[in-house]
Amino acid sequence: MEKLSDTYALKGGVEIPCVGYGTWQTPDGETAAASVAEAIKVGYRLIDTAACYGNEQGVGEGIRRGMAEAGVRREELFVTSKVWNTERGYDKTLAAFEKTMADLKLDYLDLYLIHWPASAHQFDNWEEINLETWRAMCELQRAGRVRSIGVSNFKPHHLRALMETDIVPAVNQIEHHPGFCQKETVAFCREQGILVEAWSPLGTGAVLRNEKLQQMAAGYHASVAQLILRWCLQEKIVPLPKSVTPSRIAENADIFGFELSGKDCATIDAMPYFAGTALDPDAIDF
Ligand code: NDP
Repeated sequence: MEKLSDTYALKGGVEIPCVGYGTWQTPDGETAAASVAEAIKVGYRLIDTAACYGNEQGVGEGIRRGMAEAGVRREELFVTSKVWNTERGYDKTLAAFEKTMADLKLDYLDLYLIHWPASAHQFDNWEEINLETWRAMCELQRAGRVRSIGVSNFKPHHLRALMETDIVPAVNQIEHHPGFCQKETVAFCREQGILVEAWSPLGTGAVLRNEKLQQMAAGYHASVAQLILRWCLQEKIVPLPKSVTPSRIAENADIFGFELSGKDCATIDAMPYFAGTALDPDAIDF
C-alpha cells in the first residue's frame, strides 16, 4: 500500500481503500461538510458514517463539495453507513436505509453495516433478529442499492450465526487500537476472509498520550497517530481515523513514508489495555 486510495479486494470483489476517514462526534452541518470535503481533497477515499451519528446530511454535503473541489468522481469514493440498533429487523432495516440515502443524498452506498449485533443479554431471539436484519442487507445488495454489506462489533459467535446465509459479511468494523486488539475476533475474521476495519484507532485520542508509544514514534520521526495508523496498515486492518482539524487530517494521511519493524509491531500487539471504550457487544445496554 503506497497511498490512501490503494485498495484491498473484499469477498465478492469490491475494492476497499486501505485507510478511511471517520465522522463519529463530528457535528452535523458546516463542520461535517467542511471536514469531509477537506479529507477528500487530502486524498481519503473511504468515508465512514452512520445514521446514529446524526450527521449524514452534513457528511453528504461534504462528499458533494469534496468531489467538486477535488475533481473526484463518485465511483472513486467508498461511502459506508450503518443501521442503528433501534432499526433491526427486515422491514425496519430497509426503511432505515432509505432514510440514510435521503439524508446523504446519494444513489448507492459502497458498504452498509449492521452497527451492533443483537445479543443474548438483551434478546432471547438474538440470532433470529440478526438473521432478519441480515436478510434485509442481502436484499439491498441484490437490488444494487449497496455494493457490499457487512457488520460491526460482531464477535465470532455473532458471526457464526450468519455464516450459513447466501452472502457472508465482507467486513467487520470493530474497536481496535493499541491495548485493545480483539485478537480472537481478528483471527476468526481472517480465517473467514472477512476484512477488519479499526474503529477508534486512536482510542478517540486517549491512546496518543501513552509514553511508550511516544518514544517509539520519535524513533520513526512520526507522531503517535501516524505510528498507530501505520501499524494498522501493516496488519492489513483498515483504520478509520477521525479529525475535524485540517492539520491532523493531513498528518493522519501521511503514513506511507516509513515502515515499523516486526519487533515494534509485536510490542504494540502485546500492550495490555490502557485506553479506549473496550465496549463488549454482549454487555452493552443501548
Ligand atoms: P479516533 O480514534 O480516530 O480519534 C479521534 C480523536 O482524536 C478526535 O478527538 C480527534 O480530534 C483526535 N485526533 C485525530 N487525529 C489526531 C492527531 N493526529 N493528533 C492529535 N489528535 C488527533 O476516533 P473515533 O473514536 O471517532 O473513531 C474513528 C471512527 O471510527 C469514528 O469517527 C467512526 O467513523 C468509527 N466508529 C465506529 C464505531 C462503531 O461502533 N462501528 C464506534 C466508534 C467509532 P479532532 O477531531 O478535534 O481533530
